[in-house]
Amino acid sequence: MSIDHKVSAIVTGAGSGNGKAIAERLLRDGANVALLDVDGDSVNNLAAHHGHAIAITADVTNEMSIKHAIQSVEEAIGRLNVLVNNAGIVRPGTFEALSVEEWDEVFRVNSTGPFIVSRAAAPLLARTAVECGKEATSAIVNITSVEAHIVISSSGHPQIHYNASKGALLQLTRALAVECAANRIRVNAVAPGFINTPFTAKILAEPGIESWILERTPLGRVGQPEDVANAVAFLAGNEASWITGTTLFVDGGWTVF
Ligand code: NAP
Repeated sequence: MSIDHKVSAIVTGAGSGNGKAIAERLLRDGANVALLDVDGDSVNNLAAHHGHAIAITADVTNEMSIKHAIQSVEEAIGRLNVLVNNAGIVRPGTFEALSVEEWDEVFRVNSTGPFIVSRAAAPLLARTAVECGKEATSAIVNITSVEAHIVISSSGHPQIHYNASKGALLQLTRALAVECAANRIRVNAVAPGFINTPFTAKILAEPGIESWILERTPLGRVGQPEDVANAVAFLAGNEASWITGTTLFVDGGWTVF
């Protein structure tokens, strides 16, 4: 991967699970990384162990808080090559029982949040691409889900609001890729399958669930956050400089059949 010390990245939801692994991967590759999370303790602890990291406590659904976050990245680092929209929530519930408030909460974090953060970050991403040279691009990577493409409520966890919010993020990715191309910002998605994080720990611990997942996973194991981080590192880096508007599945083959 060709991320170097001149690269600056923001990872949302960096305090846990996939976001933490993505941030750690980018830091290992030498990038300066702004670790953004609504849970300030988690990112403060992580930043304390990394010289090139700064912690930002912010809620992706709060436009003012995100504007301040981008300003502080500009002041502290001065550039932004990579934005990873990773923060997301899941709230299992059946269609009949779901309240409009629960629907809105999931959409607000999973779909509106990436819109708010991308729009606030776009001017700095565009300026940085220009500063980095004639052929350079900046990158937005959105963490969607296989559930933007397939419905796995047969596991016993119906969540139409999660499915719909990730479907919206998929189309946001494709539409933004077109709109941002002129500013040399590439926009892609990583769609994870079942990954072992605090988000899924409770479900994975239920009897029969792991074997149910493994039956549907040709590569025969549950994913790890590092699998997601590896795909993000590729799409964020120069080796993906002519890739935009696409989705990279990280699912052990789940969606193949
Ligand atoms: P996780 O362990 O729960 O981590 C998510 C992080 O995002 C947490 O630190 C959380 O803080 C933070 N966050 C939540 N709402 C936020 C907000 N409004 N503003 C800023 N930060 C916020 O979840 P994960 O499994 O790593 O999932 C990360 C992403 O991967 C999500 O978008 C998820 O949909 C996607 N994904 C996960 C899987 C999987 O199997 N794990 C599969 C497909 C896609 P709090 O803990 O304080 O809420």
